[in-house]
Amino acid sequence: MNAHRHTGTPPTAPSPSRPRPRKALGQHFLVDRRLPGRILRAAAVGPEDTVIEIGPGRGALTRQLVERAREVVGVEMDPELAASLPEALGYPGNLRVVQADAREVDTGSLIPEGIPAGGSYKLLGNLPYYAANPILRHFLEEVELKPSRIVVMVQREVAESMVGAGGRMSLLAVSIHLYAVPRIICDVPPSAFRPSPKVTSSVVRLDPHPVQAIEPQEAPDFFRVVRAGFSAPRKQLRNSLGLGLGIPASESQGLLESASLDPARRPGSLVVEEWRALWAVVRDHHVRSGGRPGV
Ligand code: SAM
Repeated sequence: MNAHRHTGTPPTAPSPSRPRPRKALGQHFLVDRRLPGRILRAAAVGPEDTVIEIGPGRGALTRQLVERAREVVGVEMDPELAASLPEALGYPGNLRVVQADAREVDTGSLIPEGIPAGGSYKLLGNLPYYAANPILRHFLEEVELKPSRIVVMVQREVAESMVGAGGRMSLLAVSIHLYAVPRIICDVPPSAFRPSPKVTSSVVRLDPHPVQAIEPQEAPDFFRVVRAGFSAPRKQLRNSLGLGLGIPASESQGLLESASLDPARRPGSLVVEEWRALWAVVRDHHVRSGGRPGV
């Protein structure tokens, strides 16, 4: 991981010509001039804020962020873009660009001085499509350094799946709702980017829950049950859960009834609290049955 902080006078050497956008890194650069303002307003960025920006690229958002926020830390995977951004923006003193993969970067190393007392940090970014979910999961699962608000651009389909549009909760929706309240702010057409992606994007705001709904060490076990429930999303829960856990439908029916859930419901109709109730029953059953495989 390399950090580039420049506070001095910019050198006079001309900028190298722009490298071609790298498809593999999901590089679609924002060219719509109104959107950065909209994203900053949705994030309510102010002079007290530390902002981590994922994938600053050529700086379409960063340019406005450095004018509004106290401190901006860009996490950019492309070494050329990471190295050239400070110069492109005139070396703002409150910008640090770290060359790293946002799916696994150590959040503590991004904010080494910590957050000022009573403050927090916000996470922003026009996320690369290929890595949007793991990047969000990485920051949502943070315990010590949880962002106070997240505003990101993702593919519209993914945004709709995250919020559980139309009352249909997907596995992704459960994993987002467990940690935050998501809402779609606006849609963004392909023409807002160069090169244009094939699909429409959406700006999504996520407000992380102040208190985690489950203990971090319980998450793998919780998601084992949720994944089992979604193993056959169109089937009734008694069947999909049974398939996923490798137990007879009669047994999964008993588990669902113990969790006060109608076994005929479909997995996509359950909200996080209901999955929690089911997980608690499966866990107790697991203990009582001596840890049989699957249950
Ligand atoms: N923020 C810029 C804009 O709106 O014009 C660029 C957005 S572009 C959709 C995604 C950016 O994320 C690119 O600059 C790309 O190099 C960077 N990127 C891709 N994968 C990444 C990863 N795993 N971690 C950090 N940055 C990544």
